[in-house]
Amino acid sequence: MPMMSAPHALAERRHWVFDLDGTLTVAVHDFAAIRRALDIRADEDILAHIAALPAHEADAKRAWLLEHERGLAQASRPAAGAAALVRALAARGCRLGILTRNLRELALLSLEGIGLADCFDPGDVLGREDAPPKPDPAGLHVLAGRWAVEPATLTMVGDYAHDLACARAAGAQSVLVNLPVNRWPDLADWHFADCRNLAAALGATIDQG
Ligand SMILES: [Mg+2]
Repeated sequence: MPMMSAPHALAERRHWVFDLDGTLTVAVHDFAAIRRALDIRADEDILAHIAALPAHEADAKRAWLLEHERGLAQASRPAAGAAALVRALAARGCRLGILTRNLRELALLSLEGIGLADCFDPGDVLGREDAPPKPDPAGLHVLAGRWAVEPATLTMVGDYAHDLACARAAGAQSVLVNLPVNRWPDLADWHFADCRNLAAALGATIDQG
């Protein structure tokens, strides 16, 4: 019998946690439009600008920003292979979670926008109000607790160093996607150019996304 291949080892994992923005969705940033709408100079940090305003002005701009972000979330598009990957894992009975630094409400809207909301128990979608932000591993501990497994059994998939460091701090496996080159070899246990390649490594049939 041949030795188990590395991708096969990954295929046997049953508890998957995904970053959302830039991992399952294509990152959409229109900071220029936001600055124009809120009258913020190009060289100013948007959140810092708002924080420095008198309360009534800050509240109005925050409200506008949230509405704008709602629209972006609803218009989210799936990253290459993301829909096929998530559907394949869900079909295998894997537990699936989201750990994002975005607001939970917006994460749920984004999942609806890319047509994957039915693959996630809403209670397994953790936003920035649910756990300290990555790279803090607290969110992974929450999900491991919900699923009654050790954090080491989790596999965290993301597109940035925070995602990988979060996995490492929890003792989970880390998978980097959506970068052609592995910028963080010390933090990534696995690297795939995109979710399509990850799905292929898991033996999933790719017919969409
Ligand atoms: Mg990301």
